Amino acid sequence: MIGQFRTIFTTILVFFLLAGCAPTIVDSNLQPQQAIYENQPPDVMSDIQKELVTVTVQYYGFDGVRHQGQVVIHKGLEQDIKKIFNVILEKRFPVESVIPIAHPTIQKKGPYGLSSDTNNTSAYVWRPIVKSHKLSLHALGLAIDINPRLNPYIKGNLVLPPNASYNPLKSGTLVSNSPVVQEFKRLGWEWGGDWKQGTMDYMHFQKIDKKTEAWIQTYRND
Ligand SMILES: [Zn+2]
Repeated sequence: MIGQFRTIFTTILVFFLLAGCAPTIVDSNLQPQQAIYENQPPDVMSDIQKELVTVTVQYYGFDGVRHQGQVVIHKGLEQDIKKIFNVILEKRFPVESVIPIAHPTIQKKGPYGLSSDTNNTSAYVWRPIVKSHKLSLHALGLAIDINPRLNPYIKGNLVLPPNASYNPLKSGTLVSNSPVVQEFKRLGWEWGGDWKQGTMDYMHFQKIDKKTEAWIQTYRND
């Protein structure tokens, strides 16, 4: 009898292992209403929030386990984000976490989740450009930052997140021939790792196309 149970148990176990049914860790599972509208600074613009969508994505963490997260992005970039995360998943490019700024986990780190000391991947954040009053493309949902601690923003002595460093050999780091960077570029995104003039923003990707160009000008005076 015990032998039979053991055989059945082993069969079930082998089935699940072969079928790749390892559990997915849910990092974020907010309602779109929560992800877009909750825990936002008072000066946030509802006209912009109306253009945002929440995209559920999957990825492998640095623990080698599959995770589920969410990206809040401009609705015009929803399909791009799905395609990029397909590459991230297929190539097993490790991502620490993908959690919207509105999530309580991120809010705990600073007011409105604006702490730069993070390794979380996120897109929409209501904030200006670093050391500027101009609205960031993140505030319009047109940019995403990936694994910030491995892919820092570097301008002279300023490094964000604090104490981060860029080592192209480390897993989770973005380099120009990385399939993830290639997929972004194929879809028409610009990479901050290609920027010159003393500013490098390795975590950062942005996309401005004909459809969003005029819309952006209504919010940014440049
Ligand atoms: Zn960025």
